[in-house]
Amino acid sequence: MDKSLKTFLKYTGKDYYNRSVNPPVVRASTILFKTMQELRKHQKDIAKNKDVDHWDYGRQGTQTTVQLQRLLRKLEDAYQVFLTPTGFSAVALSIMSLCRPGDEIVISDGVYRPTQKLTDGLLKEFNIKAIWYNPNNFNDLKNKITKKTKLIYVENPGSNTFEMQDLGKVISLAKKKKIYTAIDNTWATAYFFKPLKLGFDISITSATKYYSGHSDVMGGTVAVSKKVYKRVWWYNHVSGYRLSPDDAYLIIRGIRTLDLRMDKHQENTKKVINFLKSQKKISRILYPYKTSSKEYKLWKKYYSGASGLLSLIIKSNSKSSVYKFVNKLELFGIGYSWGGFESLAVYTDPVELGKRPYFKLEKNEHLVRLHIGLENPKDLINDLKKSLKYIR
Ligand SMILES: *Cc1c(COP(=O)(O)O)cnc(C)c1O
Repeated sequence: MDKSLKTFLKYTGKDYYNRSVNPPVVRASTILFKTMQELRKHQKDIAKNKDVDHWDYGRQGTQTTVQLQRLLRKLEDAYQVFLTPTGFSAVALSIMSLCRPGDEIVISDGVYRPTQKLTDGLLKEFNIKAIWYNPNNFNDLKNKITKKTKLIYVENPGSNTFEMQDLGKVISLAKKKKIYTAIDNTWATAYFFKPLKLGFDISITSATKYYSGHSDVMGGTVAVSKKVYKRVWWYNHVSGYRLSPDDAYLIIRGIRTLDLRMDKHQENTKKVINFLKSQKKISRILYPYKTSSKEYKLWKKYYSGASGLLSLIIKSNSKSSVYKFVNKLELFGIGYSWGGFESLAVYTDPVELGKRPYFKLEKNEHLVRLHIGLENPKDLINDLKKSLKYIR
């Protein structure tokens, strides 16, 4: 983490911490003002996106959430950051802010499954059309742009299958055609990649994952450029989304060690992949690690690091033996979500991948997603070594 951000984390203490080193959790619905004039002036400041110390009603946040917004504005290089109760509501806030009936969203194959359901399911009923493009083929994206395209929605790398796109090209295309751009940046976080700096209008992060970092809180963040600020503000205002001050406190605490944790996830993952890549039972590792690969080159072009989430493709005629591989792991918990201390493993059925026009598993191929946690990598490797034996 750069010095300005570290200093900032300390500095924010001066105003509110009342001598304690941590920010207090301020819970409130009503926020009090001394006079009506002060209340009105405050509302005007908010409308101008001034950096206020508190909001005028608890649904918009309290001093605790303001601290998190300030911190994230710096981390993301953003005009403003909206906070939502989950990562998925951050996705919904972004899309609902920008798209209206008659619009088309061009969306990368491989986005998070609930994002597929929102765009291809619910929004279809509102006459908003989702058009899928192949994340490995920039020309396919280009060809899918029409006069109706309002938004290019990207998740990079893709959920579960980790395709890497040439993000600079996506931005240039969108700017030329005057189309909004949003990216789900949960995998890397703004510590490894700052989408707004590259030119994205919206950067979405599930704070449930690495920002909070301990699998004990849910939250989402929507960092925006000045161009889309008013539109996102408007939908946020009428959506009723709110991150609780208690959850905001935990996310602030998590971000204090974001750099240390991310660097360690990366280091551990490198070591584990070094072991996995020589294992005959694993046919492919979906992660930007092979220096000669297109994925690696595209990752290197835009990212300063890689996180701990990857997938394995295992070839076997016995699904139950792949289940056994997962079941026999002792240090990897079986479960969804990721971004905490613990390593995790989950067998992903093709139906769980959802709508995937550009990705197919063969009949004898199995996808296992791993999250490499902060344990000793030697222990993780031994655990994997021992369990791989069960695959037939
Ligand atoms: C987990 C996740 C989300 C949703 O976050 P929640 O906090 O679980 O609602 C969105 N996008 C990606 C890529 C995720 O991994």
